[in-house]
Amino acid sequence: MQALFDIFFPKICAACELTLLKNEEVICTECLHKLPVIPFQEAEELVKAPFYGRIPVAHASALLYYRKKGLTQHLIHQLKYYGDERISGYLGTWLGSYLEEEKWTKTLDVIIPVPLHKNRKRKRGYNQVSGFGKNLAKLLKCNYAEDILIKVFNSRTQVFKDRFARTELKGAYFTLNNAEKIKDKHVLLIDDIITTGATMETCARILEKAKPHKISLAAMALTV
Ligand SMILES: [Zn+2]
Repeated sequence: MQALFDIFFPKICAACELTLLKNEEVICTECLHKLPVIPFQEAEELVKAPFYGRIPVAHASALLYYRKKGLTQHLIHQLKYYGDERISGYLGTWLGSYLEEEKWTKTLDVIIPVPLHKNRKRKRGYNQVSGFGKNLAKLLKCNYAEDILIKVFNSRTQVFKDRFARTELKGAYFTLNNAEKIKDKHVLLIDDIITTGATMETCARILEKAKPHKISLAAMALTV
């Protein structure tokens, strides 16, 4: 299996595509130094800022700054469109190693990703934040659940799916399953990139219906 994996993903850096050295994994040492890591102590306020006056956010964090044409963009592009799923888990372990030192993460019960619609997931084969969420959950000793927040399309727009892609998107909405699983719980909602915060806001509002104790947010990257 590993050999097969190496054929499709030869050992090259996910950010600059140069060959990795034996002791390097996923991202080369040079790129690790070049990646725009958000100073951890500043991340909380930076991520919370777009949500002020919109939704209550208990705690928040993100790993990297995201800029157009920047290294983070390239990295996430590889993850989303070129099937390099390793990046997701790698970033989860990285952010998790910072977050596990934080007091607030000790009360986390469950990590929930912003969901991907079933068809898109099938096309790509995975939700691009799965590895990120699973590795965060491992380090923060809580659960990871993809069966609570679900993305669906209403059937009326699905009929026009092929010809009117935009209509299809407008018909998408999020829904809540197994709401009892997050009642009175501390939920960490995660996504790949926070840009305007609109998607996370929508998702958080839906999660609120299940009356969780509180909602915190985390992302791989934050647009600046
Ligand atoms: Zn590199």
